[in-house]
Amino acid sequence: MKRTCVVIGGGISGMSTAILLAKQGFDVTLVERASRLAPLVRGFSRQGMHFETGFHHTGYLEQGEILDRAFKVMGLTGIESFPLGLGSDQRVVVDGGPTEGYPMSSGFVRLLDVLGDYFPQERSPLQNYLNSVEKTQNSSPYLALDASGPRETPYRDSTLAEVLDSLFTDNRLKSILASQVLYHGVPPAEVSFVFHAWVGAAALRSLRTIKGGGKSLVQAFERALEYAGVRVETGRGVNRVIVSPAGALAGVCLEDGQALETKICVSTVHPALLADLIPEGIFRPAYTNRLARLPETPRAAMVFGMIPTNSDVAPGNSWLFLEGHNPACWFGVEDRRGPGAMSVMISDPGGDNGMASLELAACSAPDVSKYELKEHLIQSYMQRLPSLYQRTQFLEVASPSTFARFTNSPFGSYYGPQHAVGVHPPQPRTRLPGFYLAGQAVVAPGIAGAVISACVAVDVMLGGDTVLKELRQC
Ligand SMILES: Cc1cc2nc3c(=O)[nH]c(=O)nc-3n(C[C@H](O)[C@H](O)[C@H](O)COP(=O)(O)OP(=O)(O)OC[C@H]3O[C@@H](n4cnc5c(N)ncnc54)[C@H](O)[C@@H]3O)c2cc1C
Repeated sequence: MKRTCVVIGGGISGMSTAILLAKQGFDVTLVERASRLAPLVRGFSRQGMHFETGFHHTGYLEQGEILDRAFKVMGLTGIESFPLGLGSDQRVVVDGGPTEGYPMSSGFVRLLDVLGDYFPQERSPLQNYLNSVEKTQNSSPYLALDASGPRETPYRDSTLAEVLDSLFTDNRLKSILASQVLYHGVPPAEVSFVFHAWVGAAALRSLRTIKGGGKSLVQAFERALEYAGVRVETGRGVNRVIVSPAGALAGVCLEDGQALETKICVSTVHPALLADLIPEGIFRPAYTNRLARLPETPRAAMVFGMIPTNSDVAPGNSWLFLEGHNPACWFGVEDRRGPGAMSVMISDPGGDNGMASLELAACSAPDVSKYELKEHLIQSYMQRLPSLYQRTQFLEVASPSTFARFTNSPFGSYYGPQHAVGVHPPQPRTRLPGFYLAGQAVVAPGIAGAVISACVAVDVMLGGDTVLKELRQC
């Protein structure tokens, strides 16, 4: 008889875990509290225009890289990805730098060329930095699936800030490189160089997006879940994990009172929520308190609008404005049609109304009301990109509380708990036999981190490297 398993949370981590376990012969039920799977990544529509929320672009999606292989291993079909950042479409604007910003190319060689021209004195340290990033990325078994020989991790005991200070003299270049903390939400002085190279600097290696955006990614997952035979329960959150008087995992209880029996359960929800799910006395109080108090990544805030498509703003354009070393706000024009879709827009087929969708994001939301937040973001947009501002129609705003409500997470942050130096992320195995953790808090944030967390959790559960081997052979 098949062993049963319940996966709690139907985001990218939960959907990946469910498919991988079903492929290993488990009878899997995936339980998601929201009415549809992956509310964070699916996005939403207003006035015929589709807007992205939790997925814009990602690293590690080149052919043969971890996401590409994991999608194949999970049987995701119909995913077409294309590169971003090859021209001058992504710009980082730094105090004291050119007003139009520095073009951020992805690809180490191209980046060295582009930034090396702006900072000729720093070309050699930049080469050193990029080499160290690449070596570090190649040191992770899940990121460098084909690597053989010794795996080097330069600057293993240093923070990102320490490495930047030791290599560079130009503060603007330091800020540009530090701006990649945008992808994990931990300040340069608090993130290890190694974690930053794996997650933040993935964008320097290569940056891709998916045709159809987050919605088509979720649809590919939905098809794969169905094909793998996973039972999906949406609109039905888990409110309690059931533990027998002998201390063994017995099942989960849903909010509508139904109990699902299982001896194996994987939770992908925010770790701060575990204290409410697990009966008292199962975990040590120090453990649950620690999980509840993990430092959180910045709170998310976005304003969504549209602009007429014309020649001076192209789909795929984005601007990241820095204040000192810190990312302050990001403005992006989304193109969900594919490369070369310059003058037509946008997102969903049928959404071609001559307008481009525009997203304005505060890199860390100030603690103000939703109305003030919207004003804050629009003001900052007006000051920084006045000509675009004139042509923008604002449609929607999402504050941290919107994100918290929408994603059933406690804080509405970009990436859940921080992976900062000195913070110990929860491990997949817990004190309750059969109860495992996966998700962005466990391994790393972002789509890649969520998928890798599922691979790691399944390997830990099976007690070997089954998934890792399959990824290597793929
Ligand atoms: C504004 C924003 C932009 C982003 N942009 C990018 C990007 O461009 N690229 C990128 O790679 N990453 C991006 N991210 C990060 C990325 O979206 C996340 O890292 C990733 O989606 C996390 O997936 P997850 O499955 O671990 O968590 P979640 O998606 O949070 O999944 C957890 C799920 O658990 C459910 N849940 C909670 N409690 C219960 C319960 N009791 N019972 C049942 N279900 C429950 C929730 O509803 C949720 O669906 C962005 C995030 C934000 C907020």
